[in-house]
Amino acid sequence: MSEQLKVILDVDTGADDALAILLAARSPEVELLGCTSVAGNVTVEQTTYNTLAVLEIAGRKEVPVARGAAHPLVRRLTTATFFHGPKGLGVAEVPPPSGQPLSQAAPVFLLEMANKYPSELTLVATGPLTNIALALLIDPDFGRKLKKLVIMGGAVRSPGNITPAAEANFYNDPEAAQAVMQSGANITLVGLDVTDQTVLYWSEIAHLDEQADRLEPAARLALDILRFYTLTHGVGGGAHLHDPLALGVAIWPGLVQTERMQVEIETAGKLTRGLSLGFNRVARDKLVNMGDYDDATGVEYEYVANAEVCLQVDAAVFIKVFRERLGL
Ligand code: CA
Repeated sequence: MSEQLKVILDVDTGADDALAILLAARSPEVELLGCTSVAGNVTVEQTTYNTLAVLEIAGRKEVPVARGAAHPLVRRLTTATFFHGPKGLGVAEVPPPSGQPLSQAAPVFLLEMANKYPSELTLVATGPLTNIALALLIDPDFGRKLKKLVIMGGAVRSPGNITPAAEANFYNDPEAAQAVMQSGANITLVGLDVTDQTVLYWSEIAHLDEQADRLEPAARLALDILRFYTLTHGVGGGAHLHDPLALGVAIWPGLVQTERMQVEIETAGKLTRGLSLGFNRVARDKLVNMGDYDDATGVEYEYVANAEVCLQVDAAVFIKVFRERLGL
C-alpha cells in the first residue's frame, strides 16, 4: 500500500462529525494522528466527550484528542441541538469514554503536529474554524506548514443551510473562517455545493435495523446516528454526508471536480453573515473592465486565488465506499 495519509480531524462532534471519525478510524489509507474538538453543534465539553466516545467505540482509543475553543472568536456560540440532538449524536447513547483529552489545548496540539510533520499533515476541519484561527494567531505560518487543509464549510454556488446566505460552520465563526481563508494554506473547500449532492437514504440501510444487535459497535453507532439523522431531519428520508465527504475528498481527491477561486467570507453583513463569496479570475477581470468601480465601491477586489472549491462530486462512488468502510 502507498504511504498512509497523516490526518488530524478538527471536529464539533455532532452526528456527521461522528460518521467522519468512524470513516477515518476504519480507513487503512489514513494514519489518524489525532482529533481536536471545537464548540459548534454542541458545547466543547460535549464535542470532546463525543469525540473520545466515538473513537473508543471504533476501537481507536489510542488516538489523542485535544480540547479546543469553547466559543467562536468574537461571536456567541450558536449550537444546533435542534438538529444533532441534545448531546450531539442524535438519540444514540454512547458509554462514557475512559480516555481523557490531552493537557494541551487544540491550537497548541495542531501547531506541535504541524512542526513535527512539516508539509506532511492533512488537516480536515468539519466544525467552526476557531481552533485553526487561534493556531494562526500563535504562528501565522501554521497554514503553510500543512500539506493540505480540507474544510467542510461554505456554499459558493449553493444556498446556505443555516441562513439563505451561509453554511453553518462559516456562519458560526465567520471571522475565523475569513482568517483561515487568508492563511496561505493549500485549501480544498468541501462546501454545500457538493455535500448537498451526497445523500444516504434510510431506505438503503433500513434492513440492517432488524439485525442491529449483530452489528459491530461502530456500525451500530453509525446506524443509530443515521436513523435519527434521516428520519428526524432528513431530506426526503436521506442524510447529507457533509463531514464524511470532507474526509473522503482528503483521501480520494478524484471524487470531486474543483475550480480554483478566491474565496472571501462575509463578516460584516447582517443578512449575509458567514456567506462564502467565491470568484475566479474571469469574474475579477470583468470588474477591471468597469473602470474605476473599485474606487467607487471602496472595495478592492484583488484576485488572489486561495482555494480549490469543490463543485461536482461522484456521490454514488463515495456513498458505496462509505457504507463498505462502516459496515453498513
Ligand atoms: Ca461538524
